Amino acid sequence: MERTLTLFAVLVAVVFPAGCGPTAQQKQLERFLAAHVTKVEPLMTNANLAYWDATTTGKTEYYDRFSDLQLQISRLYSDSQDFTFIRDMRESGRIKNLRQIRQLDKLYFAYLRNQVEPELLEEIVNLDGKIQEKYSSFRGTIDGEKVTMSDIYIILTTEKDSRKREMAWKASKQVGNVIVDDLLKLVKLRNEATQEIGFDNYHTLNIIMGEQSVRELDHIFDELNELTTEPFAQLKKELDVILAKSYGIAVADLMPWHYHDPFFQRTPLVYEQDLDLYYKDKDVKKLAEKYYAGIGLPVDDILAKSDLYDREGKYPHAFSHDVDRRGDVRILCNLQNTERWMETILHELGHAIYSKYHDRNEPWLLREPAHSFTTEAIAMFFGRLSRNPAWMQEMLDLSEKQRKEIQEVSEKYLRFQQVLFARWALVMYNFEKQLYADPDQDLNNLWWQLVEKYQFVKRPPGPVDAGWASKLHFTSAPCYYHNYMLGELLASQLHHHIVHKVLKLESDRNASYVDEKKLGDYLHKKVLGPGALYHWNEMIERATGELLTPKYFVEQFVN
Ligand SMILES: [Zn+2]
Repeated sequence: MERTLTLFAVLVAVVFPAGCGPTAQQKQLERFLAAHVTKVEPLMTNANLAYWDATTTGKTEYYDRFSDLQLQISRLYSDSQDFTFIRDMRESGRIKNLRQIRQLDKLYFAYLRNQVEPELLEEIVNLDGKIQEKYSSFRGTIDGEKVTMSDIYIILTTEKDSRKREMAWKASKQVGNVIVDDLLKLVKLRNEATQEIGFDNYHTLNIIMGEQSVRELDHIFDELNELTTEPFAQLKKELDVILAKSYGIAVADLMPWHYHDPFFQRTPLVYEQDLDLYYKDKDVKKLAEKYYAGIGLPVDDILAKSDLYDREGKYPHAFSHDVDRRGDVRILCNLQNTERWMETILHELGHAIYSKYHDRNEPWLLREPAHSFTTEAIAMFFGRLSRNPAWMQEMLDLSEKQRKEIQEVSEKYLRFQQVLFARWALVMYNFEKQLYADPDQDLNNLWWQLVEKYQFVKRPPGPVDAGWASKLHFTSAPCYYHNYMLGELLASQLHHHIVHKVLKLESDRNASYVDEKKLGDYLHKKVLGPGALYHWNEMIERATGELLTPKYFVEQFVN
């Protein structure tokens, strides 16, 4: 497709000689882009490989190699002559080719981020790497014994004894206190770097670089707060009664460790049915593989290169990794046959197919998602299936009776989960905004003020510590969390469109999405294939007929 368009541009120039100026500029730009990719592609591929080796082994040598390559990439993007060329080209208004415009946008922001003193950049990259290494190899302790995050989740979802729960919850937070000083240093360095290039703080800059605005986000999050306060208060009240009863304590005595998740970002599994029951004798990896093959987006090649099970020293969570934008895509998980890991592997493979199915005829620079939150949306769209009763019935061979049982439980669960997540995202968005606006304030107290305000969870007795810093996103994915929420909004918008316009169903009641080749085709063509060819909101409009709107999320989960 790329070649046809370039040829077309040349033909136009021949027919209309007045267009010669732009063509010369276009050619100059094309040469610049080609030279740039030749330099950056091998560095990025090697950095991705080093990151993979580091997170799968926990070894310092690979983290060092990763930091070193990241630094080389930063240096490349800090070239001020290149930056001037890109900025002038972008502002000239004379580049009319869609692909060139988009590549210019991508490069402009990538260079902008790096227009700071190299010494400062180096310090940032090194510190970031150091914290991630500490985090990745740290194991919390309960009564002096080391535990993994998987152990902690098992305790938090099954243990009835409050004291044991408290120990496990605290173990999950220990890493926060270990890394917080370095993290605050990093926050200040990031701000310093940002102010050098003329922006308020790192948070503001990141939002602008994501082609979004703080005002736009404040507006969305304020609206979310309003729309979800009452429904959440109601849901939480019911939940507290059930939880308190299950521990044999009073509602007034519920503490943060009673909520089944270190940050209460997931719904406690308290309703009649435990969905883990349906997965404990299954193989979540095989289920995911079979599912994606059924919609015509096979993932066997991805799984073959992936690292799927828990090991000492290995990164304890999960991610998807596009190594080379040429089909080497892998995921890292710590799988167990539980509903949580069913969701996680479906989620990570959602990211992975987005990377795998980019149209490789598009320029290398555009072979990435339209936006970080659009890949989250695809990941969430598939992650939600682990609790979808129609999906579970078909994939797990369940009876009509079992399906009905799940339906009752999971509808409530899903509704709760989505409203809860909106509340949790409000904590994260507002905390991070204030963290970068004033890193010297009393952050431990600020954290609990926001938790009390949005999540209605009581702070623990006594002075509060830096447990919040155990949320790795503050280190490894700064100023990014709001995109998870936008991802949820888009996942609902896609769901609505696919049910009604692609599968042409009356309602989503029986939509299992199993073996729906139409679903795979639609996503491939409208979302995965184009990659970053369009601005995120243009891609969404082309795919669903509307710009991003919260109305389908509210329709699906809040009303
Ligand atoms: Zn994700």
